[in-house]
Amino acid sequence: MQSIFLLNMAIDIVKILHRHDLRSTTARRLVLKVLVDGKKPLTHKQILQRIKEEYDSINLVSIYRIIQKFEELGIVHSHSRSGGFTLCSLIGDSGHHVLLSCEQCGKVEECMDKELCKKENEIAKENGFSPTSHLNEIIGVCESCQLCNT
Ligand SMILES: [Zn+2]
Ligand SMILES: [Zn+2]
Ligand SMILES: [Zn+2]
Repeated sequence: MQSIFLLNMAIDIVKILHRHDLRSTTARRLVLKVLVDGKKPLTHKQILQRIKEEYDSINLVSIYRIIQKFEELGIVHSHSRSGGFTLCSLIGDSGHHVLLSCEQCGKVEECMDKELCKKENEIAKENGFSPTSHLNEIIGVCESCQLCNT
């Protein structure tokens, strides 16, 4: 069941789980592996399909549970438009994470800004709201797709 790639990736994936006090189960490791390989946002169903190729004892309910936990911990980000999920590429960097999603090739990049959060925290505070994380998604066309279009 374990591919060479999984063995190479195992260190990082296990590290992510350890850092968040998550037990390293096969299902959790495989969800992370699929997201690492995925590059583009993947829905629950797409994640399940990819895992099923190697590991049969997993169902959609488990995928939902694992993703929910990962999202709570900031390990994955959800994309409201596609309904998919990507691995946070700035895990552990506290600040405002901005996803840049290309609507042509589906590529997602991520950047982080600490300044953005100040004003947002003020807005939250004014409304008696206690923020735990900040996330935006900017949808548009990436640099390489812009070049192809011209
Ligand atoms: Zn992030
Ligand atoms: Zn693109
Ligand atoms: Zn922010």
